[in-house]
Amino acid sequence: MLILISDAFDTGLSDKLVDFGEVTDDKSRLADAEIVLVRSKTKCDRDYIDNAKNLKLIIRGGVGIDNIDKEYAESKGIIVRNTPKASSIAVAELAFAHMISVPNRIVEGHTSMAEGKWIKKELKRTELYGKTLCLIGLGNISKEVAKRAAVFGMKVVAYDKYVENSDLADVKKTLKEAVEDADYISMHVPLTPETSGMMNKELISSFKKTPVIINTGRGACIEAEDIKKALEGGKVKAYATDVYPTDPPDDDCPLRNVKNVFMTPHIGASSVENLLRIGSEAHSIIEDLVKEGKI
Ligand code: NAD
Repeated sequence: MLILISDAFDTGLSDKLVDFGEVTDDKSRLADAEIVLVRSKTKCDRDYIDNAKNLKLIIRGGVGIDNIDKEYAESKGIIVRNTPKASSIAVAELAFAHMISVPNRIVEGHTSMAEGKWIKKELKRTELYGKTLCLIGLGNISKEVAKRAAVFGMKVVAYDKYVENSDLADVKKTLKEAVEDADYISMHVPLTPETSGMMNKELISSFKKTPVIINTGRGACIEAEDIKKALEGGKVKAYATDVYPTDPPDDDCPLRNVKNVFMTPHIGASSVENLLRIGSEAHSIIEDLVKEGKI
């Protein structure tokens, strides 16, 4: 069995997968591969799947499978699996890191010091304690954020189309109701036709405060031009994001070089611990499918 590791995984993973066959990272061998492991870089679209003539299993190391044409793969008898829970802590910690960094003025403090300035008086901080956090989507990652917010003394509200109540958040019936009193909004929904562009000028117009928006979900869940205008017009305090419509974002991305936009290069799932977790889940998936005689 030929296993193709197509994207960046833990470097020790190939040694573990030799239990099941030959392991390669040579993408030119796609046609011979029976198992392909991808993260978000490799796009398993129709052409890719048509070229993978011997493929039996695609493993997406991570949560979202929007880089895989799952329906088409399954129509060809290819099993598609992901590692849905492995990344929750890693992404939640990054969302929380942005949520701590913005009101504590970490980036501005560092940049000004590196430029030789001393702007102690200008850099007034604010606390998370006592503030309201709105979680959009209340799934695996969001729940980890909620737990951390509670420890910081925040009030946590949430909107999730498919969740009615939770011990971790005051679940509101509508998205508008959830965001209206928020000081912080953290986005954790998958990209679907319903969530695409959901953070837009209409939703922003319902804010009663000037929240900080954090997005570690998907870049296309926000309307970039609307966020830019809201930042410029003082309706949104800051936008901190790990995700973009494309990886990396286009040079003309409207949010580049905008004041109070803070960006990380899609590193939510890239903790050392998470890559190890993803690797061991991938190993278990293959082991189970081999035992069941499915691959
Ligand atoms: P999850 O499936 O556990 O949670 C997603 C939640 O969104 C679910 O509870 C679902 O009911 C809710 N939802 C779906 N459609 C909705 C809608 N229209 N309105 C409101 N809520 C809706 O997924 P998760 O593990 O928490 O991950 C969330 C997202 O984070 C992923 O889909 C992925 O896009 C993103 N992600 C980003 C990174 C990163 O590196 N930044 C890493 C992993 C995941």
